[in-house]
Amino acid sequence: MTLHLKHFIEGAQVDSSDKGRMSLVNPVDEKEYATAARGTADDVARAVAAAHAQLKGGAWSKLDGLQRGRLLSKLADLVERDGEILADLDAKAIGRSPMEPRMISVPNAIANLRAAAGWANQLEGRTIPTGGYMGVRTLSYTVREPIGVIGAIVPWNDPLMITCWKLAALLAAGCTVVIKPSEETPQSALHLAQLCQEAGFPDGVVNVVTGMGEVVGRALCEHPQVAKISFTGSPEAGRAIQRVVGPLFKRVALELGGKSPQIVFDDAAFDDALRGCAIGLFANQGQVCAAGSRILVHKGIAQKFAAALADLAAAVKVGDPAQPGIQMGPVAKKAQQERVNRYIRQGIDEGAQLLAGGVSSPGKGFFVRPTIFANATNQMSIAREEIFGPVGTIIEFETDEQAVALANDSDYGLAATVWTTNLTRAHKVAQAMEVGAVGVNCWSPLDANLPWGGLKTSGIGREGGFTGALSFTEEKVITVLLP
Ligand code: NAD
Repeated sequence: MTLHLKHFIEGAQVDSSDKGRMSLVNPVDEKEYATAARGTADDVARAVAAAHAQLKGGAWSKLDGLQRGRLLSKLADLVERDGEILADLDAKAIGRSPMEPRMISVPNAIANLRAAAGWANQLEGRTIPTGGYMGVRTLSYTVREPIGVIGAIVPWNDPLMITCWKLAALLAAGCTVVIKPSEETPQSALHLAQLCQEAGFPDGVVNVVTGMGEVVGRALCEHPQVAKISFTGSPEAGRAIQRVVGPLFKRVALELGGKSPQIVFDDAAFDDALRGCAIGLFANQGQVCAAGSRILVHKGIAQKFAAALADLAAAVKVGDPAQPGIQMGPVAKKAQQERVNRYIRQGIDEGAQLLAGGVSSPGKGFFVRPTIFANATNQMSIAREEIFGPVGTIIEFETDEQAVALANDSDYGLAATVWTTNLTRAHKVAQAMEVGAVGVNCWSPLDANLPWGGLKTSGIGREGGFTGALSFTEEKVITVLLP
């Protein structure tokens, strides 16, 4: 019998109010391996009511920062205990090798929970000197209060890690949550919710409603008792969310896509830059928001670099990640494979030089070969639009000013990488980047203590780090007259 996944509401597994189901398909063999509840607005209302009750006099509202921190530490231990299970659930759902989530995503999720356990007790207010009130002295201070019920909307590309970024920070701040996982990857979020219950979080603090974005996600955005939407996903869905939450003055954080540049100067350590660019392009089949998919290379080394990157791409073994020796699995879904193929065709039509890979050959599974384009311009669609697949576009530059101008000439502003051995150049170029995060001689360093987020079409707000925990609080001012 096919496995059927239900919502997790107020500590219990609950099916959809209309019994609707959605199918979960293995991207390697295109077969259904499970179904999940296709949530309704009624399911969302039920979950929000449970989360709201915990804030309004429920057991959760009575816990102090130390107690919340203790629960977060327990949760971190449980995620560590079940790390391989969680990594395998996410890997199977999108067809990636479990090695990447085991080595990167799960440890990062645990680190976020541990860091937040400490922050839960550090969300302090301030004492602010003032000029008094009508000639009378006053004492003014601020307190940090939890924003309220959070609607956490998550994509499919790294579900456990991204869910934990949100969960760690919002629980540290004392909020409660309804998580809406992606249609493709609900299983790790449901397992995580069970672990929250095992850790001792009161029922109703963490809820999961599975289903479609336009139904469950939208119902969360519209619900009057949801105080903030914390969204990670595409700019298209981000815009749809803004249209709903804007008139409601709901708080919102949007972690959206990117078209991140990797700038390779002619003084870069060639092999390090080559390996870094390949990782930035091909990790998770290129389905990474910070994928370094625009590779800007100094004219003097461009041909050599492009040829070496194309050789690396051509050597990648693509196939079922469960088989030995396979380095790259399929992309997550059919629509994603079609999207990547469409961009590859556009790149060819626009006149870029195809050095490796190309449009997928017909067959079972959503496979795409690592693809490298050279001699591209920054105006081509393969340089401007997020492909979200293993496709790299190489563009040449001559001067530092040109490199900076090309890097910043983008609708996106999530991340950038600078490859150089010149210290002054590294700092100057890093400071000139119009993005949320820059890696110098390292692609997209992730750390639980670092804030993460973008500019322009890459989104609004930051999550991660202490900044992330603060973003789930409101600062209230209290002034006391001291006659
Ligand atoms: P998506 O926007 O299609 O879906 C993301 C989530 O939003 C899903 O849970 C979906 O059901 C929900 N959703 C869709 N439409 C909605 C609506 N109208 N209202 C409310 N919710 C809605 O994105 P995806 O394909 O799952 O993920 C890929 C995108 O996510 C890429 O653009 C990628 O760059 C971005 N991403 C960004 C970051 C970051 O940190 N900036 C991290 C990972 C992924």
